[in-house]
Amino acid sequence: TRTPFIAGNWKMNLDHLQAVATVQKLHWTLKDAGHEGDGVEVGVFPPFTDIRSVQTLIDADKIPFALGSQDVSAHDSGAFTGEVSGAFLSKLGVTYAIIGHSERREYHSESDELVNAKVKAALKHGLVPVICVGETAEDLEKFGASAVPVGQLEKALDGVSASADIVIAYEPVWAIGSGQAATPTQAQEVCAVLRAVVGRVLDEDAAARTRVLYGGSVKSSNIASYMREPDIDGALVGGASLVVDEFAAIVRFQK
Ligand code: 13P
Repeated sequence: TRTPFIAGNWKMNLDHLQAVATVQKLHWTLKDAGHEGDGVEVGVFPPFTDIRSVQTLIDADKIPFALGSQDVSAHDSGAFTGEVSGAFLSKLGVTYAIIGHSERREYHSESDELVNAKVKAALKHGLVPVICVGETAEDLEKFGASAVPVGQLEKALDGVSASADIVIAYEPVWAIGSGQAATPTQAQEVCAVLRAVVGRVLDEDAAARTRVLYGGSVKSSNIASYMREPDIDGALVGGASLVVDEFAAIVRFQK
C-alpha cells in the first residue's frame, strides 16, 4: 500500500511571487473540485528562492502539499559557493530533494558518485531523496531501456541503509519535455526492474515500500494509464506542473 505521489518539478520557472500565487490557486482548484487529499500525496518542487515563501503559505493556510527542492549539496556547510545544504532545507520544512535529475547530470556534469554523495547528504539531514534515473535516446538504442537506469540506481544506492526512506523517478531523457511520453508498458517494465534493484541493493521490504514514479511528458490525458500499472506509484511532472488546471487534473487522475 504505497500512497500515490504526484510531484511537480517546476525547474527554473516561477519567481517567489508567482510561486505563491500558483500554490494558492492549485490549492483552491483542488478544493473546488472536491479533492480533499483523496489518498494522493501532492508535492511541489520550486526553485530555492521560492521555498521560504511557499513554506510560509503552506503553513499559514494549512495546505496539504509536500515541499521539495530540486537539488541539494553533498556537503553539510562551508566553502561551497552557490550550494545549498540539506540542513538548511529541512529547517525550512522541506521534505523531499530531487537528486540526479538528467538536466543536472547533463548541464552540470553530475556523476553517479556525486549523486550518491547527495543521496547520503539528503538522508543525513532528514530529507527524502527523489532519485532520478533514465536513459538517453542513444542509450536506448545501444543498450535497451533498463541498463543505464539500473546502473545509475545501483550507484546512487551504494552504502544507503535498507531502512532509508527514498523515492525513485524513472525519467527517460528522450521523453522529457518532448511530448513523446514512454508508453505505460515501457514505463512499467523499467519501473519493475528498478524496484527489483531496490530489493537487491537494499532489501525486499524497501522494494515493497519505495515509491517509483514515472516522469517524461506526463499530462492529464495520460496519467491514468501510468497509474494503472502495478509498479508505477506516481509521476514527476515538469511542464504540466506549471499549468494549475492541468496539474490539478493530473492530481485527480482517479476522477
Ligand atoms: P516534462 O513533464 O516537462 O516532460 O518534464 C519531466 C521532468 O523532467 C520532471 O522532472
